[in-house]
Amino acid sequence: MLAERAFDVLLLCKQRFPEDTPAARSAGTPYLGIRIFRKRSRPNCMKITGINVLGPKHGYLSFVEIHTDEGLTGIGATDAPWCIVSALVEHGSISLRSLLIGENPCEPRRLWKKMFEKWQARRGRGAEGGLAVNAMAALDMALWDLAGKAQGKTVCELLGGAVQPQVMAYASASLFEVLTDGSWKKKTSEELVRECRAFVGQGFKAIKSGWGNCFAPEDDDNLAAMREAIGPSIRLMVDFGCPAYWTEGWNAASAIRAARMLEKHGVYFLEEAMRPDDVEGFSELSKAVDVKIATGESLTTVYQFDPFIERRALDIVQPDAQQIGITQFDEVQRKAGAAGMLCVPHGPWTAMTVASHLHLLASAPNGDMVEYPGMTSFEYDPKLHREVSLNNFKIVEYPPQLKDGYLQLSSRPGLGVGNLVHEAIRELDEIYPRT
Ligand SMILES: [Mg+2]
Repeated sequence: MLAERAFDVLLLCKQRFPEDTPAARSAGTPYLGIRIFRKRSRPNCMKITGINVLGPKHGYLSFVEIHTDEGLTGIGATDAPWCIVSALVEHGSISLRSLLIGENPCEPRRLWKKMFEKWQARRGRGAEGGLAVNAMAALDMALWDLAGKAQGKTVCELLGGAVQPQVMAYASASLFEVLTDGSWKKKTSEELVRECRAFVGQGFKAIKSGWGNCFAPEDDDNLAAMREAIGPSIRLMVDFGCPAYWTEGWNAASAIRAARMLEKHGVYFLEEAMRPDDVEGFSELSKAVDVKIATGESLTTVYQFDPFIERRALDIVQPDAQQIGITQFDEVQRKAGAAGMLCVPHGPWTAMTVASHLHLLASAPNGDMVEYPGMTSFEYDPKLHREVSLNNFKIVEYPPQLKDGYLQLSSRPGLGVGNLVHEAIRELDEIYPRT
């Protein structure tokens, strides 16, 4: 009798406060006492009901939306073509959709394991870090976003809470202009100095220049001019962009010689000095030079990071949530921290990724800096500038906020960026016409 009465009261409450759903809570709708009951019970019975794969149809970037029976949507992004991610999600006897529909989105670590193991069982397809892992990364990012929205918590809170309320962002810039015929033109020393001064004026405390190949003798003068322009207190970093891809015979000895040229300019870290899988080479390099050695943008599981961490082959790990997902990133970051390494993620190319990196780094003591697009560096190319602008500032309702060079943690649930703005995706489609 008492139980029936209690049930009647709950039904009455449900009818009187139909707006009290996780969707309404994440939108900030006021609630009354019934929330206490629902907050504990609803996330456990929430179900995934649909997955959308969106993105520019002819670009190299995909977005996902995961929908639930509670009306909530989680969002994610990955560096992989829309047609590939769509195929992996939609088709086949072990489509990623089939592995997630009906599941509780509040268990992202279990669901990443489920997706990964099913694909690993297919003789390693995806497990070696292929495009299937990229598709899983987007879904994993969306699951963490959903788990936060469902429980009224930020991703940082789900990861254990903030150890720092804001995280330094560095301006990611390019040494090159890409010309209309696809060739690269190195920016002049004056252009680089102008960019550096603009970044400092915008509040950045750190700047990275992407060299895109190896460090040539004339670059020594460019770097000296950049250091003089920004002064000694601004961090300056250099990304070699894996010269081993471009130069036959490039090895650890070559990288050591180049890294020693950077030391006198007070370079904070040197990124991707060798092939992404060269554990022995990186180990040799990091022991030989004073500049911090960083890499990791091409590694897509914690298993690929393990040898670098176990050998103490790096000073800084650079996972990318847009390649690896939040679950794997968190494992890499924490293992690296225990081995005395900093974490500076790779990838400033979508608002969802920058937000993921902000939450991940805010939750870990070794979270050092987040890569952020240095828009001034892309002004030579209106098309590229528009693309980066759409992906970072228009693609979501609430892009991450930068204040005086630091990214600010939002109190909005999940990644704190709201939902995807489909109009921005339609605009991206115009940038990537079918060729
Ligand atoms: Mg890089």
